[in-house]
Amino acid sequence: MKLSEIFAKKIPTLSFEVFPPKTSGNYENVKYATSEIAKLKPDFMSVTCGAGGKTDVYTADIAASLSRDYGVTSIAHMTCVGTSKSDAEKRIRELESLGIENILALRGDIPEGFDVSECDFRHASELTAFVKSISDICVGGACYPECHPESANIKEDIIHIKEKVDAGCDFLTTQMFFDNNIFYKYLCKLRDAGVNVPVVAGIMPVTNKAQIDRICKLSGTYLPSRFINIVDRFGDDPDAMKQAGIIYATEQIIDLLANGVNAIHVYSMNKPDVAEKIQSNLSYIIPKKDVLL
Ligand code: FAD
Repeated sequence: MKLSEIFAKKIPTLSFEVFPPKTSGNYENVKYATSEIAKLKPDFMSVTCGAGGKTDVYTADIAASLSRDYGVTSIAHMTCVGTSKSDAEKRIRELESLGIENILALRGDIPEGFDVSECDFRHASELTAFVKSISDICVGGACYPECHPESANIKEDIIHIKEKVDAGCDFLTTQMFFDNNIFYKYLCKLRDAGVNVPVVAGIMPVTNKAQIDRICKLSGTYLPSRFINIVDRFGDDPDAMKQAGIIYATEQIIDLLANGVNAIHVYSMNKPDVAEKIQSNLSYIIPKKDVLL
C-alpha cells in the first residue's frame, strides 16, 4: 500500500524503523529484529540505507520481506549522492519488481572532499523529480525541525523543502526532536510556506546514555532540561534509563496526538522490546488496525 493512501485516512498511525546490517555477518540478527517488530503489526515500517548505497541490497531485501512475509507496508530509503540517473532507475525498477510501493528519497551525507556539482543528483528534490518522472511509486522526503546543518537558517531550509514537495514529494518525515514545541513551530512555518503534505513526526526513544551523547555530537539536537535531568539521574542505570527513555518518548507521542498530529514514526533502531513497549503504552490511543477491522 502507498503511504499517501494511509495518511489520507487521517487517523493516528504508528510506524517503526529498522536499519540494515553493514555486513552479511550480522544479517540474521537484523532479520530477527525486523520480524519481531513486524509481528507487532505497525501501520508501516521503514528500512534505512547505509551511506553510499553499500547496504542497498539488504534494504531492498528487508523491505520486500516485510510486505511479503508479514503483511506490513514498507518504505525503503534511497540516497542519491554520487548515484547516476541510470543506476537510480535500475534501483527503482528493482524496488518496484519486489513490490515495494514507497521510497524515502534522500540526498545522503556528502563524503568529505566530494564534489556534487557535476553529479546527476545534487539535492533530494532532484531525485524526487526523477523518481516521479519514471514511476508512480509514493515518495517521501526528510525534513528538519531544527534546520539541516548545511542550511544558513530555517527560512532557507524550508524554501528547499518546498522545492522538494513541488518536485512531487508525497509526505515528509522529520529528523528526531525532543521538544514538541520545536515541532509545532516548524509545522506552522511549513504550512505558512505552502508545504501542505502530511508531516510524519520522528520520535527517538533514548534508551542509553551513549546514544544521547552520539546524537548530540552528530546532529546538535536541542535537549530540554526535563530530558537532561532524566539522563543525569538515570543515565548510569541501564534499566532505569531505558524505562525512562521509553516513557519520555511515549509522553511526546501522546502530546503530539493530543495536538492533532496523526503520523508518528518511532526510530526503533532494531530494538523489538522498545517498539513493543511503546506500542503497548499506546494500545488504546493508537489501536492496532487489525483490532479495528
Ligand atoms: P536535501 O533535501 O537535498 O537537503 C540537504 C541540504 O541541502 C539542506 O541543507 C537543504 O536545505 C539544502 N538544499 C536542498 N536543495 C537545495 C538547492 N536547490 N540549493 C541549495 N541548497 C539546497 N541518511 C542515510 O544515509 N540513510 C538513510 O536511510 C537516512 N534516512 C533518513 C531519514 C530521515 C527521516 C532523515 C531526517 C534523515 C535521513 N538520513 C539518512 C540523513 C540524510 O541523508 C542527511 O541528513 C543528508 O545530509 C541530507 O539529506 P536530504 O535528503 O535531507 O537532502
